[in-house]
Amino acid sequence: MGAAYRSPARARAGDGADRRLLRALDGLYVIPSGHHRPDTGRADAARMLACDDRTLTALARHGLPSTGERGRERFDSRDLFNLALYSGTGRTPVERDVTSLLRWTRSSCEDLIAPRVSRFELGVACGDPDGCRPDARNALARPRTGAYGGAVRHVRAHPGRGGRRVGGAPDAAATTARSSGPAMAISAVLRTVGDCPVLRAPALRAIVREFIGAEPRYLRLPVELRDDPDLVPRGFAGCGAASRYIERLCREEGVPATTRIGWVVGLPDVVHAWVEVVDDDGVTKVIDPTFTLLSEVIPWSNPMLRDPSLAFRTNRLVPTGLHVGGDVASHTCGRAAGTAERPNARVTTRIVPLRPTA
Ligand SMILES: [Zn+2]
Repeated sequence: MGAAYRSPARARAGDGADRRLLRALDGLYVIPSGHHRPDTGRADAARMLACDDRTLTALARHGLPSTGERGRERFDSRDLFNLALYSGTGRTPVERDVTSLLRWTRSSCEDLIAPRVSRFELGVACGDPDGCRPDARNALARPRTGAYGGAVRHVRAHPGRGGRRVGGAPDAAATTARSSGPAMAISAVLRTVGDCPVLRAPALRAIVREFIGAEPRYLRLPVELRDDPDLVPRGFAGCGAASRYIERLCREEGVPATTRIGWVVGLPDVVHAWVEVVDDDGVTKVIDPTFTLLSEVIPWSNPMLRDPSLAFRTNRLVPTGLHVGGDVASHTCGRAAGTAERPNARVTTRIVPLRPTA
């Protein structure tokens, strides 16, 4: 394979971004070889990094993990995502998508707290190519915005074709809705509202201040590593790992704390995680560490999101009754359990605003 001709002007234009990619690779946490998943070929990798073939070769030579013979390497899409996110080029699809999906973090304090109304739909369906088995069971986490001062209305459970509800009458207080059959969905209208109380306990403030000061980075990680709190002292985390880390520090200081998982309005198909703590005044408050993890890539976000003296809870937060490690949707049939992470289940989430913020 010969080197592609590059005009001097084009080479100069591209070289800045290419140098930034190589520099970002130096500080990159790479997915450990035991978890490496070679799911992306060269053409798609170059698209994700918005770089040319020559730069991709240089990245592979300088330590971007790959498998396969030279010139036909395959890469792990999570390495590519993380490298693009912190490349600083501003031209990768990853940077553009994250900026666009998190644009709302620029909003005023009032807009981040005011009540909102959204339509919620969560579904799971069998993904087994050989067809579903007769013993199939489904479980879907219920949205519980009432716990945060909102409301859940017009809840409907739809047992898929051939399915039926398990356990008789629906139990509104239950954490999960269950059914048998090849598919299931629930829908509801959610009212959500934000909050921004002051954190009182000095121990809590110290924990949050130390977490922010350590400047951990958000990374896309394999499911086996995603919730590991021991990653945080090494400088990186997903929202699950960061939440477990803060939960652990709180408990060591005698502060009641528990992790929570759920969704964020406008970020479909992302299961988010945060921490609920009981402050000195007896009030349960939210610490949402992901805005700290992302502060490097959303430097223009409202500083309230990373203020260690505030327990900021966005009006986009939709809690479930589950903790980090729980599954918001699962389908089980035959011997294989299927969740969002395993190919045996197809999970779809839609949370769309019903009308503009009040
Ligand atoms: Zn099935």
